[in-house]
Amino acid sequence: MSLEELIQYTDSINESKYRAKQIHNWIYLKSVTDINQMTDISKATREKMLETAQITDVKIKNRQISSDGTIKYLLEFADGNCVETVLMRFDNRANLTACVSSQVGCACNCKFCATAKLGFVRNLTPREIIEQVLTIQRDTGLKVTNIVFMGQGEPLLNLDNVLKAIEIFNRDFVIGIRRLTVSTCGIIPQIRKLAQLDFQPTLAISLHAPNHETRQSLMPIENKYPIDELMQTLKDYVGSTGRRVTIEYTLIKGFNDTVDCAKQLAVLLIGLKANINLIIYNPNDQDDFEKPSKESIQKFKYILEQSGKKVTIRLERGSDIDAACGQLSNKYK
Ligand code: SF4
Repeated sequence: MSLEELIQYTDSINESKYRAKQIHNWIYLKSVTDINQMTDISKATREKMLETAQITDVKIKNRQISSDGTIKYLLEFADGNCVETVLMRFDNRANLTACVSSQVGCACNCKFCATAKLGFVRNLTPREIIEQVLTIQRDTGLKVTNIVFMGQGEPLLNLDNVLKAIEIFNRDFVIGIRRLTVSTCGIIPQIRKLAQLDFQPTLAISLHAPNHETRQSLMPIENKYPIDELMQTLKDYVGSTGRRVTIEYTLIKGFNDTVDCAKQLAVLLIGLKANINLIIYNPNDQDDFEKPSKESIQKFKYILEQSGKKVTIRLERGSDIDAACGQLSNKYK
């Protein structure tokens, strides 16, 4: 609940606006899980609250901790459905990034993705999205500073709920809008909708291929929203919002990591204000793809840099745990 919604709630139990502010602080700043922990609220009010409200019903079903500090959670909601949430820390940086899920499973069926094997089950509610970050904060006692929608699901296919969660992350968790990133496989009508909003989270596009044929063999969404139309939509998006986009490209050995692919990608991105984030494929036991060699990663990066783009290689995180999204859920299933 936003503060306004909490005010409506306290009003409904004949309590003041001030109580709503106290409750807001206990939930979002002090991360309590039990109404009785709200010690500056009278016992009589707490009893009324206990009869009418609940802070959380999310359970941590599994937790894996990597030697690099990454923590992966499998969270269970009241209906028994589970999603994965990851906390990533990067050396020498104060940032703590939560990678959240937006759906249970996913309908997009990307070939390299373990979540795709689960199929689509349902959208997450705004509360279930927010609970993922609250659970991390309660469990670690740390404050999340960045949020990426790169867990299970396609966020733009659950856009209304994702936007409501983003609003609460921005306003109630006080996380800057540029520190909130939505990653999409390229749902063109929803990218156009995002462009019309008053606020834009950072937009990341899972591209993973430099041409229609390669992308089609990896991502079925390419049949519906082809790469050329996607590029034009992104140029329009940048034109109307002034925001740079991030292009995510997972390098898979022998498939899309060749010199030829790098050159094609450089040409494809001409005229698009974008940073490129190269992701090293994280092998899982659900498919036959392999990790690229160090040499091909460096060559690929070099070619793109020569074209004038800023290129980063995403640090590998959690490679000793089931870090790729969907891996842990699959194991449980
Ligand atoms: S990569 Fe993302 S969009 Fe594609 S199937 Fe996996 S969760 Fe869905």
